[in-house]
Amino acid sequence: MSRKNFYATISLNRAANQRSDDKWISEQLSNPESKLLPVWRNHNLFTQGDNFSMACLGLEHLNALSNGKNQPILLGTIGQTSYFSIDISHLDNPKDNILYNSGVEFADLRQIGPIMNPEEGNLLAYARGINYWHQQHLHCGVCGNMTHSEAGGHQRRCEDKSCDTVHFPRTDSACIVLVYNDDKIILARAGRFPAKMQSVLAGFLEPGENLEDCVAREVFEEVGINLTDIVYQHSQPWPFPSSLMVGFRARALNTDLHPDPKELESANWYSRDELKAITPDSEIQLPRGDSIARRLIEEWLAEE
Ligand SMILES: [Zn+2]
Repeated sequence: MSRKNFYATISLNRAANQRSDDKWISEQLSNPESKLLPVWRNHNLFTQGDNFSMACLGLEHLNALSNGKNQPILLGTIGQTSYFSIDISHLDNPKDNILYNSGVEFADLRQIGPIMNPEEGNLLAYARGINYWHQQHLHCGVCGNMTHSEAGGHQRRCEDKSCDTVHFPRTDSACIVLVYNDDKIILARAGRFPAKMQSVLAGFLEPGENLEDCVAREVFEEVGINLTDIVYQHSQPWPFPSSLMVGFRARALNTDLHPDPKELESANWYSRDELKAITPDSEIQLPRGDSIARRLIEEWLAEE
């Protein structure tokens, strides 16, 4: 299981041991080789050529892009190059503050991800996810006072000295499961899905619950199926805005589907032959190519 899912950083060194070294951080911020990845209102910056690619700015942009409150966040290093990100959502026309702005565009990675180089898509997803966390934690969840960024942007501390709570980036765990029985798997459709798309079942982990119990509960709630042989497969960061998808495979003990109408429009069993016959014109479509859902399905299809 060496292959990583899309949006898991590949060659990035997160430099966790250097984040709290202010001298090292300031050296990287003044290094002409360092790169800056701006995030504007959950949109990343892309270079538009034949394909979309990641647009990196030089650190000389910091003054023009900063309002004094939005500190650069250290993403990590690739080779000798340090990568930072900064939230510039306060700007109404962000391209006006970029020195070399021809051929670059802010866009939604969720639309572009599947056609990008994964290494670049991964970095952009990470930048978007950690900036989102900062936006949501400007105030202390304990006392309500302002917080400020620390440790290269990997924690926020309450500015009220009597509180002094440190907040860390959070990730919401979600289980996603391919449920099989003989030669068939369950695919379901939720109203929020793109037209025709069917996918495997998924749901969020609750406090005090382990991942396997979450899988069993979600599948029973959504389609009335009891499971056995619940086995972990692999995981995928999904920072849209802040999830980790934990992928499983499980065997159904019964086959009568009772889709919960509050969650699903439909749920059905599909055979390998039916799924292998899907074309772009078919009435059902599989999940997007950069998703763990798609990989769980394709791995099962390949096993015949
Ligand atoms: Zn506080």
